Amino acid sequence: MTGPVLILGGTTEARELAGDLVGEHRVITSLAGRVRAPKPLPGEVRIGGFGGVDGLVEWLRTERVAAVVDATHPFAAQMTEHAVAATAQAGVPYLRLDRPGVPPDPAWTVVPTLAAAPAALTGDRVFLTTGRQHLAVFADCPQWFLVRAVDPPTGPAPARMQVLLDRGPFTVEGERKLLREHRIDVLVTKDSGGGATAAKLEAARTEEVAVVLVARPPAPAGVATVADVASAAEWVRTTLASRTNSW
Ligand code: NAP
Repeated sequence: MTGPVLILGGTTEARELAGDLVGEHRVITSLAGRVRAPKPLPGEVRIGGFGGVDGLVEWLRTERVAAVVDATHPFAAQMTEHAVAATAQAGVPYLRLDRPGVPPDPAWTVVPTLAAAPAALTGDRVFLTTGRQHLAVFADCPQWFLVRAVDPPTGPAPARMQVLLDRGPFTVEGERKLLREHRIDVLVTKDSGGGATAAKLEAARTEEVAVVLVARPPAPAGVATVADVASAAEWVRTTLASRTNSW
């Protein structure tokens, strides 16, 4: 009998993978706890940080975890770094599920980090979709901001700001309507990939709204990585089958 599969979650792909595997294996999805009321997930769920690399190593050993799929968001770089280190220490197979980024468009301004985005803003009306956690970066900006987030922002924020609480899914038509209604000059988004990013970028293109795209943090080097849920599910099946056979 193998131990559970741990999915490091917080993304649509993590939810889909849990749904794919739950009838076959014991699945535990881990969430950071940033969203106040996360959508229900198939299988078991644990919430909150592990306490760094050492905490995760201990957790993997205590729960006798058989495999880890890191399906965290492409910008959750710290969790990924910890997971790579902890699984290596604990001797647990690790896979990174990393959805592809958006195909580049020469019309966009690409910035290396969120902190570089304020200097790249054009126009007065900004649509900000980079999450509620790092609004302080824009706190001194004179522009007006439409901030879309799942939960209300806290802490330092731009003086001229309207908050729109929504978690999608978003359509191109819906995004176009939003850009028009709020007379948006510039969209700021992370290169998160996935359908939600594609819809707003397509809307910006058709509405001739400027785009500031925050590039992804570097992916971990030298780890097994797949780009879609089906490949991750296949990796889990193969990995668990080989562990069962070797015990
Ligand atoms: P992060 O900066 O990489 O992680 C900071 C710390 O939060 C980690 O060291 C870990 O704490 C804890 N943590 C993060 N993800 C966790 C998980 N799935 N389960 C348990 N603990 C977790 O992460 P972040 O950028 O704040 O993102 C937090 C979560 O939101 C992630 O799960 C991610 O998938 C999701 N998310 C992030 C974004 C984004 O733009 N960053 C967007 C959508 C969803 P310990 O060191 O104590 O273990």
